[in-house]
Amino acid sequence: MTLAHVLGYPRIGAGRELKRAVEAYWRGELDRDGLEAAGRELRARHWQAQRDAGLDLVTVGDFAFYDQVLNVTALVGAVPARFAAEAEVASGEVDLDTQFRMARGRAPSGTPAAACEMTKYFDTNYHYLVPELHEGQRFRLASSRLFDEVAEARAAGHPLKVALTGPLTWLWLGKGREPGFDRLSLLEALLPVYAEILARLAALGVEWVQLDEPALVQDLPVAWRNAFELAYNRLRASPVKLLVATYFGALGDNLRLAVGLPVDGLHIDTVRAPEQLTAVLDNLPGYKVLSVGAIDGRNVWRADLGALHERLAHARMRLGERLWLAPSCSLLHVPVDLDAEREIDEELASWLAFARQKLDETVTLARLLGNRAGAEDRARVAAATAALDARRASPRLHRPAVAERLARVGDAERSRDNPYPVRVRAQRRALDLPLFPTATIGSFPQTPEIRAARRAHRSGELGREAYEARMRDEIADAVRRQEALGLDMLVHGEAERNDMVEYFGEQLDGYVFTRHGWVQSYGSRCVKPPIIVGDVTRPAPMTVAWSRYAQSLTSCPMKGMLTGPVTMLQWSFVRDDQPREVTCRQIALALRDEVADLEAAGIPAIQIDEPALREGLPLRQGEWQGYLDWAVECFRLTASVARDATQIHTHMCYSEFNDIIAAIAALDADVITIETSRSHMELLDAFQDFAYPNEIGPGVYDIHSPNVPEVAWMVQLMEKAAERIPVERLWVNPDCGLKTRGWAEVEPALANMVEAARELRRRHA
Ligand code: GLN
Ligand code: ZN
Repeated sequence: MTLAHVLGYPRIGAGRELKRAVEAYWRGELDRDGLEAAGRELRARHWQAQRDAGLDLVTVGDFAFYDQVLNVTALVGAVPARFAAEAEVASGEVDLDTQFRMARGRAPSGTPAAACEMTKYFDTNYHYLVPELHEGQRFRLASSRLFDEVAEARAAGHPLKVALTGPLTWLWLGKGREPGFDRLSLLEALLPVYAEILARLAALGVEWVQLDEPALVQDLPVAWRNAFELAYNRLRASPVKLLVATYFGALGDNLRLAVGLPVDGLHIDTVRAPEQLTAVLDNLPGYKVLSVGAIDGRNVWRADLGALHERLAHARMRLGERLWLAPSCSLLHVPVDLDAEREIDEELASWLAFARQKLDETVTLARLLGNRAGAEDRARVAAATAALDARRASPRLHRPAVAERLARVGDAERSRDNPYPVRVRAQRRALDLPLFPTATIGSFPQTPEIRAARRAHRSGELGREAYEARMRDEIADAVRRQEALGLDMLVHGEAERNDMVEYFGEQLDGYVFTRHGWVQSYGSRCVKPPIIVGDVTRPAPMTVAWSRYAQSLTSCPMKGMLTGPVTMLQWSFVRDDQPREVTCRQIALALRDEVADLEAAGIPAIQIDEPALREGLPLRQGEWQGYLDWAVECFRLTASVARDATQIHTHMCYSEFNDIIAAIAALDADVITIETSRSHMELLDAFQDFAYPNEIGPGVYDIHSPNVPEVAWMVQLMEKAAERIPVERLWVNPDCGLKTRGWAEVEPALANMVEAARELRRRHA
């Protein structure tokens, strides 16, 4: 046989039951027992789904009330001192509320404290809590949750495997603040705790433990590579069998290291990196299991089971029973169950597979490889082949006009007519702005009333005309408030937008939306990424009427607001039948038409948001340039239709620009607004060192905090900016959109910001 398993299963539940339970607990509406029961219920259901599908092992350890990396942090007792309440010290157990306080700064019990940092897990949109590490840190086995869950699965009669972040990847994901601190120095202290965990699992009768080490698909310093050998040589004495799991890419220069680790099995990703299978097979020691990750754990497309069977047949011949089969990575990154979708048409549904469907695919492929396929499996293969043949031939995928237009794109379409120094003269004439112009990033508070109106509109209660009238009122209100505040460049406020990607995707052909396709983003937060099915086109203008209306209300310049092509791509499930960059260029051309239409409607400035540009960077540095080249090209394709006098803005809300500053400059936006307030303008160093040539709005107040920033504070921040950037090229703005805030804090904050700009003008006139 060929053993079928998964590296992990979504834990939120098909109806987002986990979100509801956890949030009810935080609000005090559900007690601890109720929360624990909800967790048990979800685990039981998910294990049962794995068994019902026919997996040979269920996976234990992928459940978390908040985050699986945080679970390990608690398991090894790495709780920062500010969270260590007496109760926990006494019992020796890290309490669940402590985990919640680490994640969110507060919990139903315990004293609030600053939450731990959260960041994206590798190149996914899943956010984990960054382990806080420090010199001389000690570890101890500090949670019995994992062992309780093992007991639960055993009691339910499931054959199981335990999954856990491996020691090196856990350290790799961690951060220390002290200068000169090397997190690898903690490995010696950490390993005994891992050994203890493995021994406890063995005592519970666990045979296999999967240690996730996706750090192995990144560029590792030599010391880290050596540490892998050392760590696994130490852990080999454990009485369990270890499966080292790698995913999200190719092992590359770590291939020999990974294949040679003294463990019982290795999992590789053959979706992102199909080419590595042969090299792994050639180097795999004769005793070792190879788990092949052949079903795509990062995307929603149905697998071509027949083709995969053929591709993997030789691996089966070479490995026999030592071949295992799985999705490429944990199914955490795809929605739960396609059967819950009723609004997707049948044809489209036949092209898709969510987590539950991927269980079936895994089992069928394993049975085919193990020569155990039954009639049901053969029918599944035939159905997949038929659906995928139909998909390839479908007119929904290909619009010849799109390809023709792309083929005609030349260099002229990728550049503005003139360089910035020429454009700026036309823009100054057109806009007539003061020194240190003030502006915002686009959105204003999405009030409960706005959201209620949208809900009513979606449910059919509020007709289209009435809804649009409501939104126009919101726009008029936002314009009035901005004029009263004295802002120099206005925005319409984005009241009509639910989400910056969904709003555009719903108006573009080629995109489809699910009703229940939720994927965990962090903690209880889920996102519903749209699916790009076919060639992207823009049937009609998307934002022009709103922006034109907003401009008609004021003599101040109005800034139009678009989501950029890279972000539109990055936050969607992307079609797998053509390179990502081709899809991105299609989106870019659709948005280009919107830029042209906004300009023709008299909108003098257009912002193209690219908050996801940096997160699109590949996991291997060697691939960065290739990505940045097409990402920049796509942005320019969108923007460069604008005439000299039309000012192009872009916005990015993160603070690490050092690696990509050349690409940022190559976007050639006239103005970039960025997040700098939390780093006290330090990140402007990158712009200064590079001699960034265009205008910058370094965010002067942190919109993530409800505090109203003081005038003097913002003046002082801008003075720091003025030391680095010529004042004629500086803007004054918040560091991100204001949609999550309330007017009660936004108005005084913006009033102070305008006052700060006036003070700066007095000083620098
Ligand atoms: N224009 C968007 C807003 O203001 C930008 C959002 C973002 O940066 N993620 O909300
Ligand atoms: Zn932002």
